[in-house]
Amino acid sequence: MSITAIKGMNDILPGDVETWQFLEQSAREVFGLYGFSEIRTPVSEKTELFCRSIGETTDIVEKEMYTFNDKSENSLTLRPEGTAPVMRSFIQNRLHNLDPVSKLYYMGPMFRYERPQKGRYRQFHQLGAEVIGVEDAKIDAQVLAMLHQYFVRIGIDTVSLQINSLGCPECRPDYRRELIRYLEARLDDLCEECQRRYQTNPLRVLDCKAQGCRSATVDAPSVLDHLCPSCDDHFAQVKYYLEALDIPFEINARMVRGLDYYVRTTFELVTDQLGSQNAVAAGGRYDGLVESLGGPALPGIGFAIGLERLVLMKGEQRIVAKGPQLFIAAVGQQAADRAFVLMSQLQAAGIRAEMDYLGKSLKAQMRRANKLNAAFTLVVGEEELQSGQAQLKNMADSCQSAVALDSLVETLTRNLLDKSSSA
Ligand code: ATP
Ligand code: MG
Repeated sequence: MSITAIKGMNDILPGDVETWQFLEQSAREVFGLYGFSEIRTPVSEKTELFCRSIGETTDIVEKEMYTFNDKSENSLTLRPEGTAPVMRSFIQNRLHNLDPVSKLYYMGPMFRYERPQKGRYRQFHQLGAEVIGVEDAKIDAQVLAMLHQYFVRIGIDTVSLQINSLGCPECRPDYRRELIRYLEARLDDLCEECQRRYQTNPLRVLDCKAQGCRSATVDAPSVLDHLCPSCDDHFAQVKYYLEALDIPFEINARMVRGLDYYVRTTFELVTDQLGSQNAVAAGGRYDGLVESLGGPALPGIGFAIGLERLVLMKGEQRIVAKGPQLFIAAVGQQAADRAFVLMSQLQAAGIRAEMDYLGKSLKAQMRRANKLNAAFTLVVGEEELQSGQAQLKNMADSCQSAVALDSLVETLTRNLLDKSSSA
């Protein structure tokens, strides 16, 4: 039996990877326009970082982390999300001394020990952004505008933005107490997990997918009715700026997010295309997080997009790899040697060129040129070597023109330019 990959951890193969590259490249372009710089942190961190930031009673920390001891008995964890590592790095490298406002983005693999299914894997990829240093609601709206613009750029228009405010350490405790009282009176209707967690993490009950929990909480008190004046005002401003920017949104007072560090604005981009894995992106404010990790008291806000779910949504509109601009078919050993040198010169000049390496017949070489979707082909045989001329065939319209082998690079560069300027 040959060795296979770990369950829930997937290869990304040619044919699919072009879509990934498109999604990543688009992020670099869009996020760059909004003034974000990339940050790259290691894939693993000290376990304590995630316990302290994400929260001991969250799904991630309770059951989803890849935690192990290294050979020196240090407890390490493969990062389940990107915000905590970015904050750790921000504090450690004192990035606030370089700029009072840090706009950072990241992309890369995350790891959670979940039950693998469509849109849910054990190694998955997130593309995320964080802004540290701004409390003003303009930045909430700007982060959402950037997220919106990213989806416009990648051509996905079947997501909707839901927003909520979770209050702050001033107002949430009162709401939490009231919610616990409400849940206590309906304990029998809750699922086993919620019966266990309603005291430690009552907000999670609002997010539970179990039917019993859903119907038991239809009339639950709304967090939005319990915001303190400053949270209420902040939320009103976020909505005001979103309207000013023409960004459509819905308010979902039941959206609580699964991580403890969120305060005030929280949001999700949801789709009905992916069954129960309906969140494509999610995020919110985490004003106390940097300080709780030992850094300065700076507010922050960010989001993470799940790349696998985007790739699934791109579905039929996959990005196709570019074929060679020229395929050189050679007949005979000498012609193959000449073709090899010509191909290498073309590649060095920035032209995608390809040839046959397997000694195939001319017919088979032409089949391959077709299969690779080559824009032009050139057949080089004994006669062409003698005359120094060959026929350059445009595969789109089958037009042929004679070209001197010695000036192939120039001719082809010109032809390709003509083609792109007429397109
Ligand atoms: P879900 O409710 O689907 O479990 P989550 O609330 O755990 O999502 P976050 O931690 O906020 O998700 O992560 C942000 C995004 O990362 C999600 O919206 C989703 O697109 C993606 N994501 C999270 N977990 C996985 C996973 N196991 N496999 C693939 N993508 C994931
Ligand atoms: Mg989850």
